[in-house]
Amino acid sequence: MSDNSLRVVWVYPDLLSTYGDQGNVLVVERRARQRGLDVARLDVRSDQPIPTSGDIYLIGGGEDRPQRLAAERLLRDGHLFQAVNNGAIVFAVCAGYQILGHEFVNDLGQRQPGLGLLDVTTVRGTGERCVGDVLADIDAPLGLPALTGFENHQGITHLGPTARPLARVRFGKGNGTGDGTEGAYNDTVFGTYMHGPVLARNPQIADLMLKLALDVNALPPTDDRWYEALRTERIAAAQQPA
Ligand code: GLN
Repeated sequence: MSDNSLRVVWVYPDLLSTYGDQGNVLVVERRARQRGLDVARLDVRSDQPIPTSGDIYLIGGGEDRPQRLAAERLLRDGHLFQAVNNGAIVFAVCAGYQILGHEFVNDLGQRQPGLGLLDVTTVRGTGERCVGDVLADIDAPLGLPALTGFENHQGITHLGPTARPLARVRFGKGNGTGDGTEGAYNDTVFGTYMHGPVLARNPQIADLMLKLALDVNALPPTDDRWYEALRTERIAAAQQPA
């Protein structure tokens, strides 16, 4: 982190921002400010270059066509690789998650290259879309409470050997592979199918990213009653029969 200011980059809001994923940026910003940090937020549209100096990059979900355009532009831009090489943190949802992988199937039915920042590959599922509330247990080494979110995707994401599953579903589909995994991560790059916005439902993930960015083990506590009420409501919803 440079000059005591946390740089949060919201990638391509004009293409990737479904189901209120922009809320993820608001949660990161707010939780950083509550800890006394100065936050510089940069919203980078798809006709603008991605800065390489960000600390945390957030990417949302999107429909199939905007997803194709976003992946093309991010690959051409190349700066997200550089940022990750510099130690930046990336957190991506649904279409954004698929774009971070090696490839996905686009709206034209073609296999399209992703950024390869996560060792995952996405194919198009032939069955029903994965839709609904999800409850999952986050990978134990991350030490976080259960993951709650909402999914809506056709893609099925397979993990390669260097990607760890972010979580294992109790309810819902997650990666859709039938092995119970949901999302993927490695070092500082995180992908999930969870909307919600997911960081409003799981503020501890926002805190995990802040800790990584600040290189600290703990943060001052915050009043999380509002988040807890939302979590309780949505976790109950995930357990209702469809
Ligand atoms: N287009 C992708 C899919 O359906 C991602 C959808 C989304 O981001 N909600 O798999």
